[in-house]
Amino acid sequence: MPFNDEGMLDNDQAKIILQNMVDAGRAGLFSWDIDKNRFQVMETFTGKTFNQINTLEEFLHEMVFHKDVRLALQDLNRFMTGVDDSYQSTFRILDYNGEIRWLFTKGTMQSENRMSAMMYDVTEGNLQQGHDHRTNLMNSDTFMRKLKNAIQCTKDADQHGALLYIDIGNFHSIINKHGFEFGSQILHKFSRILLEFVGKQDEIGRFPYDKFMILLNDITALPEVEQTAQSISSFFDEPIYIEGKQIYLNINIGITLFPDASLDVDELMRYSDFAINHARQSGNQSAVFFDSELMASYNREMDIENELPTAIYNQELSLVYQPQLGLRNKDITGFEVLVRWNNKNLGFVSPGEFIPIAEEKGYIVAIGRWIREESLKTARIWLDRGIEFEKLSINISTVEIAQKGFKEQLLHLCARYNIEPRMIELEITERTFMMTEDDENNIFTEIVKEGFKIALDDFGTGYSNLRSLTAFQINTLKLDKSLIDNIKDYKQRHIIIGILGAKTYLYDEIVAEGVEDKETLDILSDLGFDTIQGYYFCRPLSRSDMEQFISAFRATNHY
Ligand code: C2E
Ligand code: CA
Ligand code: CA
Repeated sequence: MPFNDEGMLDNDQAKIILQNMVDAGRAGLFSWDIDKNRFQVMETFTGKTFNQINTLEEFLHEMVFHKDVRLALQDLNRFMTGVDDSYQSTFRILDYNGEIRWLFTKGTMQSENRMSAMMYDVTEGNLQQGHDHRTNLMNSDTFMRKLKNAIQCTKDADQHGALLYIDIGNFHSIINKHGFEFGSQILHKFSRILLEFVGKQDEIGRFPYDKFMILLNDITALPEVEQTAQSISSFFDEPIYIEGKQIYLNINIGITLFPDASLDVDELMRYSDFAINHARQSGNQSAVFFDSELMASYNREMDIENELPTAIYNQELSLVYQPQLGLRNKDITGFEVLVRWNNKNLGFVSPGEFIPIAEEKGYIVAIGRWIREESLKTARIWLDRGIEFEKLSINISTVEIAQKGFKEQLLHLCARYNIEPRMIELEITERTFMMTEDDENNIFTEIVKEGFKIALDDFGTGYSNLRSLTAFQINTLKLDKSLIDNIKDYKQRHIIIGILGAKTYLYDEIVAEGVEDKETLDILSDLGFDTIQGYYFCRPLSRSDMEQFISAFRATNHY
């Protein structure tokens, strides 16, 4: 009988259990009589004997892996000097096999001058198993197990639950500004606030970095979930205060219902991730619900993701070229290269749809390389056929420009097809510029040094903060279609006139994109634009169609 009458473990039984744990190498214990300089230890981790040891300090010197001795002594010192109430230390040791093991040691004063402690092997089962020590919430492992159970329960009981995936959009920049320790405090405070918004039967889990998951059990109606998400997000319309500093948190929430959306934990997590990504990108909507519409675009993205990797091999990609018309000499000055994808299952997929996915999944590197190779091939063919032009403009994604060896690869292609770098213009968006340091040695400076040209694409959409206009050397400014479409508007026209006025300082050439009618063309011409591009002049065409267009155009020169 392991228990006595009161249901308590008796001393003999306790000793046996303890002895078993020590024998099994799970735990060890020691006792230190501080006044008498007597140290006794019981452990089977190391296979050592500690006969000559009189103090805990000496013991730590012997026991602890040499790299951790200093920290272990500091922990002891904090306890002995009264900084910490209890003795607590985690360090590595070398066991009898010479393997590293992690020990967590926790001790107290047993009497006025006697200290005793237990050492636990926490090598495999991390001590924080189950929970996150920073926020004291359950960690992702525990949360996922809870979620799995919750899905089963709601299904069996014909109920519904919701999963709210939450992160702090500006956490990275807060850390950059205030440091990691401050970031930790934010996470702690943030978790406390979240707890206010959930009921007794709900759960919150801490996920890596700045991510949290809320599990709402027993939902009767969707508005209930939306209400919770709404309350959380409006709470953070106001700043929070940490160390007297006022901090605004931009939070994003992705909401999924179960078992409605899926019975599978991993799938639910992916849906939530998809929803939170939409929240992040939407700008004005901090909570996004994974509804049937989102499910459809999720599936579409998955299809694209699955088909993309073999697109090059299966020769599904092709290039089209859209000519640019110089307004001064009324001749074709150059061409923008645009990629096309025709897949046997998905049919024609526009680059606006698949390029962002290719960027996210990294396929853009291979695709981009293929595009550049084909583009330069075309340039060579046209030059050989006597087709004159000033430049070929190629779109480059952020991911590509960050690739090591990008410049070298480009130079290599130029050498191979005997094309001068000045004939190649790289179209870059402001987002790409913003991600680059504006120091002397950034990739753009290097590219420009080699003679390549840089165009700032889609100018006037979203990002414009003018830093890219001044911090980088730009040859061509491409005004986005959305600005051009509004050119008939008086105010918009004046913004454009302002940009045109800065021409000699900021760029050499200004191109209007997406010109669809004659009226717009005439206005742009009057305003002094250098170049236009758009359906009105010519749609993007395949290489051979473009060759015909060029010869017909140059034969009549009807502009
Ligand atoms: P973008 O670089 O702004 O390309 C211009 C887009 O506007 C092209 O769409 C072009 O076909 C379209 N366009 C040209 N003139 C007109 C017009 O008068 N009216 C209208 N409504 N549209 C016009 P596309 O080919 O669908 O490309 C969409 C986007 O996909 C591009 O925007 C670019 O961001 C990306 N993209 C296309 N090809 C490539 C590529 O080879 N590499 C990379 N990285 N991105 C590409
Ligand atoms: Ca472009
Ligand atoms: Ca553009």
